[in-house]
Amino acid sequence: MQVKPRIRGYICTTAHPQGCAQNVSEQISYIRDGEPIVGARNVIVLGCSGGYGLASRISAAFGCGAKTLGVSYEKEPTEKRPGSSGWYNNLTFDRIAKKEGLYAKTIDGDAFSEKTKKIVVDIARREMEPIDLLIYSLASPVRQHPKTGKLHRSVIKPLGSSFESRTLDLNLNTGDARVVDVTIDPADSKEAEETVAVMGGEDWQFWVETLSEAGVLAQNFKTVAYTYIGNELTWPIYWDGTLGKAKEDLDRTSKQIQVQLEKGGLNCEARVAVLKAVVTQASTAIPVVPLYFSILFKVMKRQGTHENCIQHIHRLFQEELYGTKEKRLDEKGRIRMDNHELDEQVQAAVSEAWSSIDSSNVKALADIEGFRSDFMRIFGFGIDNVDYDADQDLGLKELSTTVTT
Ligand code: NAD
Repeated sequence: MQVKPRIRGYICTTAHPQGCAQNVSEQISYIRDGEPIVGARNVIVLGCSGGYGLASRISAAFGCGAKTLGVSYEKEPTEKRPGSSGWYNNLTFDRIAKKEGLYAKTIDGDAFSEKTKKIVVDIARREMEPIDLLIYSLASPVRQHPKTGKLHRSVIKPLGSSFESRTLDLNLNTGDARVVDVTIDPADSKEAEETVAVMGGEDWQFWVETLSEAGVLAQNFKTVAYTYIGNELTWPIYWDGTLGKAKEDLDRTSKQIQVQLEKGGLNCEARVAVLKAVVTQASTAIPVVPLYFSILFKVMKRQGTHENCIQHIHRLFQEELYGTKEKRLDEKGRIRMDNHELDEQVQAAVSEAWSSIDSSNVKALADIEGFRSDFMRIFGFGIDNVDYDADQDLGLKELSTTVTT
């Protein structure tokens, strides 16, 4: 079967098996060709199949030589449809790791559930040494609470009052781009609570408690959850909105985890890492953000400071998680990886472009092609050396090798 992109808005419902494989192997090559990282040995990555989680798993495995156990929630292929891009990413990661003699196991299931946690504990106990790094990189619109059974749904809305701004109306099929006005109504208090229940820190804490109670954590255990803060143009919809409330809850959780583990006698580090803006399935779902991101990319590429997922996470591992220099922490103890994004000159140039951008100059002031190409890459399209006219093996024979919950 030939696989072509099927795009609606900022969603692509197909994924190209060979293109996804090429995307993952390029990220692996980037890490393999870089300086080795001396650090993690036994790693669990929650949200391992795409974006920052996949980049973290690749950095741990191919940079540090670590055993990795990944968890993600992806769609497998059927006779008629390819699987999701994350499904092919996991398949490729596992395949290359195995070929290179690196232990890798991937679990396809709901990370919020007790069942998945139990499977992870069993595998960690049986097949790994004590876990020294847990990466929390989940991005999900829903969470079924493991204790109450209630299904929580997150919303991406401002708090307090409506937010009027501009956003990018980008036709990802043709590349046509317009700048359009948008008004987003505020969330009510219930919606805000629901969003914290999905994207806040409770599940991160449950994971650490489960692993700790099972006695599978190493003495020098580290755990990191990822967050975004960005700048004032996106604050009303992000940091000051429902998502920001959830992300603030991660700050509280990191302190709580740190205290609990220290009480248990572990020399641990639990931190939130503030990462830069990159195009992923999760980030393109946020209104206004695509316009800010594409202006930002134009400016950062001009300044030579732009990083994609793998470059950014490689720097996180090398400079902050396993670096020897003093950590770049803020007043809340968060690791600040967004230093290049928030650089004064970058932000001044972004604000200037933002104030004059409209449909007539959007392609000059924003990196529309870069944004579009990053988006297509997520689904394995637009990648060099991939024959998009060739029939694709959808991977049906591989289904039996995936650990599902
Ligand atoms: P992504 O959409 O690329 O990846 C999300 C991952 O979560 C996937 O592996 C998916 O399978 C997994 N997932 C979702 N629901 C799950 C479930 N119930 N069980 C198991 N796995 C599940 O997202 P991303 O942009 O890489 O985001 C990862 C983290 O990084 C998020 O916390 C996000 O806020 C943060 N972050 C993102 C950006 C950005 O610009 N993309 C910037 C800073 C921080």
